[in-house]
Amino acid sequence: MRSFSRKDPVHPHVKKLLELQKVDQEIASLTKDVETLPAEEGKRRRKLDELERIAGERKNRQIKTELDARALEKAVRGSDDEIKRLNERLNAVRNNAEYQAILFQIESVRRDRDQTQEECLRLLDSLDAQKPDLASATAAADAERKVFEGFLAEATKLRDERRSAVAAVLERRKAVAEGLPGDLLREYEGLFKTRDRIAVCAVEGGYCQGCYNKVTMNDTARLMGKATVVRCGSCQRILHLQH
Ligand SMILES: [Zn+2]
Repeated sequence: MRSFSRKDPVHPHVKKLLELQKVDQEIASLTKDVETLPAEEGKRRRKLDELERIAGERKNRQIKTELDARALEKAVRGSDDEIKRLNERLNAVRNNAEYQAILFQIESVRRDRDQTQEECLRLLDSLDAQKPDLASATAAADAERKVFEGFLAEATKLRDERRSAVAAVLERRKAVAEGLPGDLLREYEGLFKTRDRIAVCAVEGGYCQGCYNKVTMNDTARLMGKATVVRCGSCQRILHLQH
């Protein structure tokens, strides 16, 4: 522990706390942007999920249209076969009534067949129309996935860098905190959290620079005496005289 110096304008514990505060502010700035990463990752993941959902929907719609068109093609081929069979029967019939009946049947199957084929062509046309939509949705999802993967890699890199930087600063912190009474250290740590990372602040022109309230004459005298640790009567921050 450093010896008490007459020239030192602050109480030795307060001097240490000021050093500690500098270290803690350094840690805070090192962890600040890392702390925003989970929220940022969530936001980006939701965006990617949405684009993948749209691409998946369009892909499924295309698959369904393809399957429907294929089923209709199969039905058309079935009708063609049936018409062929009916034509063969037509050649074998002996009486006119049966002949007319088969002709009527052929006509009916052909009507259905033509309708089915029309429907099939309509599906194939819509399949062509769907292609650009699917391509653009897939491209958008692919591009976003690349961006997201890049973000994840960057985030991991940043976290690793910051983790080792913080570890190094924490080592220094230990040395700085050495020798401070436990109660004072805990008080300081509480204030650092609740007072916007300023637990120790200066008095300038008789005003606390943390809350801008006037410091009493009595407290100013105690600050000048340097024998005790003085707190702001308004914001409870630990005070030191500006030098
Ligand atoms: Zn204050």
